[in-house]
Amino acid sequence: MRLVVFDGGRLGALDGDDVVELSISRPPDHRGPLHAVIASDSPPGSVANAPRRRLAEVGVEAPLPQPGKILGAPVNYIDHGNEMGEHHTVAQLGVFLKAPSSVLAPGGTIRLPYTDQRTDHEAELAVVIGRTARNLPPERALEHVFGYTCALDITVRSGEDRSTRKSFDTFTPLGTAVTTADEVGDPGRLRIRSWVNGALRQDASTKDMIYGVPELLAYASSVMTLWPGDVILTGTPAGVGPLTHGDTVTVEIGHVGRLDVTVSTAGAIDYATRPGERNPRLVPPGSRDSTI
Ligand code: MN
Repeated sequence: MRLVVFDGGRLGALDGDDVVELSISRPPDHRGPLHAVIASDSPPGSVANAPRRRLAEVGVEAPLPQPGKILGAPVNYIDHGNEMGEHHTVAQLGVFLKAPSSVLAPGGTIRLPYTDQRTDHEAELAVVIGRTARNLPPERALEHVFGYTCALDITVRSGEDRSTRKSFDTFTPLGTAVTTADEVGDPGRLRIRSWVNGALRQDASTKDMIYGVPELLAYASSVMTLWPGDVILTGTPAGVGPLTHGDTVTVEIGHVGRLDVTVSTAGAIDYATRPGERNPRLVPPGSRDSTI
């Protein structure tokens, strides 16, 4: 199934270009109806007499508007590591956390925070966890996957920690649908592409991941418990590049789906005027006046 959330928290299944509304067995909370389905571990039913709606005519929302956590994998394709001059991988860098508040709905607008700092698109396969997982062996890891969706890991190329540079509001577009694992099959054999303004920027296969999905889930779950509805971003291949006002960005992943968003600089500020920069007081170690 290809599951979408639309029109104020309704759950639907995609059938071609149509959406058919589904019923769920427990009422959704702020985490949305898809999270409720995943957490209840019971399949959604069809809504009797629900009209078929055209996907283009409904208000599509983020499939998981508030994941418990979003994990990212730094430098998980060799060719992207080469383009960034970074030769460490998950083995040395570990995984990183993105703020759940960074999720953006399909069709939404990425807000670039700074007028003068490069901010890149990173197209990524996102894994949606289905069952609580801790210390997964790689050979059992895929049993804990609910499904997959398209994601962008939007990233400011400044000097802060990854969790800051990648956590601005709107920096994790997700969707359009979450496609269940049974429809996707092997997550290590998917074509992943991205376009900016219609020009192809990234074109790779998930077989070129350094840590495949099973190994990444094994590693992540050795650090922290993975919960139903958690989202794991699996890294981006080569071809990342800067975004500017008015851009349209598309991600397409074979057997998974497609995601479209736009870009705006509305509200962007000069990097030097951000809060904090005007108070760069460093205090010697041991000082009782420390503000750090
Ligand atoms: Mn990334």
